[in-house]
Amino acid sequence: MLLPMPLDLKTSEEKSTEISIVAPCYNEEPNIDYLFERLESVLDRLNLSYEIICVNDGSRDNTLECLIRHHVRNPAIKVVNLSRNFGKEVALTAGINYSRGAAVIPIDSDLQDPPELIEELVVKWKEGYDVVSARRRSRNEEGWLKKTTAKSFYRIIGRMSRVPIPQDTGDFRLLDRRVVEALEKLPERNRFMKGLFAWVGFKQTYILYDRPQRYKGTTKWNYWKLWNFALDGITSFSLAPLKIWTYIGLFISCVALLYALFIFMRTLIFGIDFPGYASLMVAILFLGGIQLITLGVIGEYLGRVYEEVKGRPLYLVRDSYGFTDNRTDKT
Ligand code: UDP
Ligand code: MG
Repeated sequence: MLLPMPLDLKTSEEKSTEISIVAPCYNEEPNIDYLFERLESVLDRLNLSYEIICVNDGSRDNTLECLIRHHVRNPAIKVVNLSRNFGKEVALTAGINYSRGAAVIPIDSDLQDPPELIEELVVKWKEGYDVVSARRRSRNEEGWLKKTTAKSFYRIIGRMSRVPIPQDTGDFRLLDRRVVEALEKLPERNRFMKGLFAWVGFKQTYILYDRPQRYKGTTKWNYWKLWNFALDGITSFSLAPLKIWTYIGLFISCVALLYALFIFMRTLIFGIDFPGYASLMVAILFLGGIQLITLGVIGEYLGRVYEEVKGRPLYLVRDSYGFTDNRTDKT
């Protein structure tokens, strides 16, 4: 008599979906047809029940219409339409929140993450791993500037962060439901996914692959965005930039004390010496610079604390297509 229907529906669907693919899409209209063609052929071969959740991240072209067309053709393709562009990391989080599969696989919709690798990911998952990431074997397709900056970023963050953050892995990976649930417990707004994946731990492994060029369209990253991405990563996984100033300050004070002693002795022995304008200027400018940098670093952290404290929802959904149960935002 007391059978709550929606709950029943939900549990039956939860049981039946084995794989959830999550694809964030921002102006990817030319890639979508080909993406589904390849995804569906791989998933059909695997013979597992699946859902493909596409998150339309405020695209300005006809990505949404295209996605809905595919949803009508194949109901396993589901669409979450965000109210505006929220950025890839947030779109991914939205898609993961909507997913119900026993394993979740985030994938780029520009076909830089070859769908055929899903088979290998699933094999490792069946062997008992909770996180199987796809690691780029080479970055040959990228220019040396991108390569060296990426490399130094990973070296710096590797030194600073207490959890080791793996190099050359994007967001293309397989996550067991346990890991997804762990990720959902992390309330932070700033989603530096690579770091979060590393932070949650679990049984992890990886496979290697060569990353192809994007199929069509252009990348949405530029160096300014990458720089901010790097700052997000460092500030959310390390307090070193805040702490280092204590040591720099201490060092400068010690040197200043020695210098003061030296001046004192010199004045005692040789009397007052007028010139000294240059060294004074250098000291003032140098220390002024250091103080401004320190303030800037504190500002970076303070700004992020402010973002978190405001407690706004991570994203807003305008509408969704293909979700039978009442999946709501868990943010
Ligand atoms: N993306 C998104 N929102 C954005 C920017 C990108 O959902 O604001 C998606 C994009 O559609 C693609 C993935 O994130 O599926 C990776 O984007 P992109 O190819 O531009 O990045 P790159 O591969 O150059 O790192
Ligand atoms: Mg890409």
